[in-house]
Amino acid sequence: MENVVEFFKNLPAKKCSNCGEKIEEQHECYGSQCEKCDEL
Ligand SMILES: [Zn+2]
Repeated sequence: MENVVEFFKNLPAKKCSNCGEKIEEQHECYGSQCEKCDEL
């Protein structure tokens, strides 16, 4: 199962599509944007 571990390690961090800010995994309701951009 070594390949599975590598797969998750190489997953890119979720980023805001507007400013590029990293989006916390726990805030999935924000969609593709960070909290700041989502409020605009
Ligand atoms: Zn943003």
